[in-house]
Amino acid sequence: SIGAAGDELGLNLYVVGGFVRDLLLQRTVDDIDIVVEGDGIAFARYVAEKLNCRVNTHKKFGTAVVIVSEQIKVDVASARLEYYDFPAALPIVEKSSIKRDLARRDFTINTLALSLNADTFGTLIDYFGATRDLKDKTIRTIHNLSFVEDPTRIFRAIKFANRFGFDIGKVTANLIRNAIKVDCFKNLSGLRVLSELKQIFSEEDPIPAIRSMTDYGLEKVIHPRLEITPATYQILESANKTLTWHDLLYVQETYPRWAVYFMVLLHRCTFKVSEQICDRLMIPVGERQLLLETRYKAENRLGFIESNHPVSRQKLYWALINFNTVFVLYMMALTKNEAVRRDISNFYTQFRHVTPKIRGKDLIRIGVTPGPAFTKILNEVRNAKLDGHLDTREKEMD
Ligand code: ATP
Repeated sequence: SIGAAGDELGLNLYVVGGFVRDLLLQRTVDDIDIVVEGDGIAFARYVAEKLNCRVNTHKKFGTAVVIVSEQIKVDVASARLEYYDFPAALPIVEKSSIKRDLARRDFTINTLALSLNADTFGTLIDYFGATRDLKDKTIRTIHNLSFVEDPTRIFRAIKFANRFGFDIGKVTANLIRNAIKVDCFKNLSGLRVLSELKQIFSEEDPIPAIRSMTDYGLEKVIHPRLEITPATYQILESANKTLTWHDLLYVQETYPRWAVYFMVLLHRCTFKVSEQICDRLMIPVGERQLLLETRYKAENRLGFIESNHPVSRQKLYWALINFNTVFVLYMMALTKNEAVRRDISNFYTQFRHVTPKIRGKDLIRIGVTPGPAFTKILNEVRNAKLDGHLDTREKEMD
């Protein structure tokens, strides 16, 4: 029905970019990006009205998001190349503006478009050799100044190569090296680098991408004193295993995967260098506190558990209960002690859930005055349960 809306308004419509690429690679697709040759915002409003759904518009960029449902959001962009025949004439929208739109993209594999209009429905448009490069499994830029124009594309090239198991083309790899040599990152906002790093660290297995980053010396772009050594890779591998273990058990639970990998990279840095990396990447205050202070707390806590091992369940519970998933997984990735790892995993899967069955009202009933005594009693009951003494509500009441 979106295609029909294009015909009704007399506009050319295309689904473009990642959607078409993933379709040809037979991968699951999530985002749908549409380009309209004309006013994308007016088109999006028209579709939203027809489908009776919400639409968000960004006038400045000529873009809109049609929120079809919680799962389906359609991004709409305007490809409009206006020129005027003579001053004050009505603008004429050039027909091939889709080509100009696609030419602004990062890599050939992202330049495909599929027509959505009825008479040309499903026609694949490939101006830049995208199908060839998908077949060759190669990441290639469209032009030679691509990385100088936008250095974040260097991270994107590595991300896509890693995700699809593609190679970065020879010329493109040289362009990356040259762009790094001329210090193209000097004026790049830390926020944009951070956003790309988060995307790489959120991939299923980011390790090959991290290797590729270090092959190009990109870690030095983040901070000259950031070292990624064989020991770092060992912890990264361990993080991979830990996260896979977690995600198989807790399919529904989401947490910032990227943060675990990022903390592993910061692990060997001094506090000062970690702080400077956070500054460089413009990491917001809340996340910064987690990556610096809370990470140190977690590392110290792990050190305590390792040096006191074996520790009772009670001790383990109170040592870990205030750390959320990301830090528990980080500790599991970090430890080289198998028994400690097993204990932490047992904490996570089993006894972090241990809570007294009795409640405050039960205590009032037996004559305890509400106040600090409550917490003390309930914690003692919890401790006894952790040690396996109390398995029924009646025993707790005793
Ligand atoms: P993903 O599956 O990671 O979302 P995607 O290809 O959809 O992959 P997005 O980051 O959502 O990637 O970008 C959407 C489209 O915008 C891409 O297909 C790409 O063509 C274009 N694009 C994104 N970032 C850039 C950039 N820095 N330079 C040029 N084009 C870009």
